[in-house]
Amino acid sequence: MTALRSGSATDVGRVRSVNQDRVLDAYPLFAVADGMGGHAGGEVASRMAIEAFSEAFDGDPTATGLTAAARRANLAVWERSRSDAGLRGMGTTLTAAALVADEGGAEGDERLAVVNVGDSRAYLLRASRLTQLTDDHSLVEEMVRSGELTAEQAAVHPQRHIVTRALGIEPEVEVDALALHPVAGDRLLLCSDGLVNEIGDAEIGEVLTQLEDPQAASDELVARARAHGGGDNITVVVVDVVAAGAAETAAAPASGAEEPSGGALSGKGTSAMATAAHPIARPTDQRGEQEARAEEEPLPTEAGPRARRPRVLTARAVVFSLLVLLVIGGAVAAVGWFATRSYYVGLSGHQVVIYQGRPGGFLWFQPRVASRSALTTSDVLPSRLLDLRQGTEEPSLAAAHRYVANLAQEASGLPGTSPGTTSAPPPAPPLGTTTTLTRVP
Ligand code: MN
Repeated sequence: MTALRSGSATDVGRVRSVNQDRVLDAYPLFAVADGMGGHAGGEVASRMAIEAFSEAFDGDPTATGLTAAARRANLAVWERSRSDAGLRGMGTTLTAAALVADEGGAEGDERLAVVNVGDSRAYLLRASRLTQLTDDHSLVEEMVRSGELTAEQAAVHPQRHIVTRALGIEPEVEVDALALHPVAGDRLLLCSDGLVNEIGDAEIGEVLTQLEDPQAASDELVARARAHGGGDNITVVVVDVVAAGAAETAAAPASGAEEPSGGALSGKGTSAMATAAHPIARPTDQRGEQEARAEEEPLPTEAGPRARRPRVLTARAVVFSLLVLLVIGGAVAAVGWFATRSYYVGLSGHQVVIYQGRPGGFLWFQPRVASRSALTTSDVLPSRLLDLRQGTEEPSLAAAHRYVANLAQEASGLPGTSPGTTSAPPPAPPLGTTTTLTRVP
């Protein structure tokens, strides 16, 4: 059995009047939920999410059950927001971890399963190194991942509170999931953005390394965030792996973590290619050849075999080379045609923009802006933001323009104009433009 020890803390902070965060510290399940939505919405969303999540996990306490429980919590919050006009548009983040049986492993093997939706985070402190396990589902973090913003710009970005994924916004939600083999000494941190917006990873790592007791570490993290300003609700859970399961006791920590989505824990910096000593093309006249040899002979053992054959360009070789160039040229043209013939609607900063090309580019072809719209992220439904971040492909420029026009219309509550939707108004939830996913102070 893997033994865990945990501590947790939640605090309203120094600016907000209500704590919309919710914490769950109930072995073997741990979670943080950061509610959002005006009036009572945020509080209701985070509380409902934790209740539904905890109940669903109890019914199926496995790694798959954990992900299913997050989806169940999503549905519970969504249904409630549909049935209660005062709660319309509410949502919540959910970052959770649970100790579960390793379904594919040996008898008694256990895993720490982690799920995430939104911009609360899970970190792992292992061997004094702090690693962020989860990706933030927020506009600015997605821009950082796509290279549009630096981490420094993101930290002070005015729209850093906009989340692109949350529980309760739509009946279905995509849940990020990962699992790791617990190793004795591991320390897991779950926290809401009220912590990381105030203190950086270095300071978080410092506190987690210095304070051995998980409750003391939780309290200290909250105290530091408050001291820095406490602009938001602050919630942390610290979970220590005190003793790992039987199969892990002798295992090397290096093999500990796995992440299906690839990234945080997989090996980094292994791509440095050893550049072998290639023969360098030298001038072929005698003088050059001799100079070259003179330079090289003092270092006879350094390089690999240096075959020096006379280079004779035969007519056949010339023809062959030209053919190869032709084939390559044809392939380049075909790729160019493929990469640039389509259009997609995406975001440039906060502006809705029509690009020519493929979302994210294709090989060396980067998409280029074909048309800029007057819309910004605050003019479209929150539920469209993720599509826009990823880029919505359209077969033609005209189709892309129609899509943009529909974005504006659906946000203003008017029927769409695209073919097929002219007769019937879209059955989209009547979210007003005021129900964005921005946290309301
Ligand atoms: Mn928050």
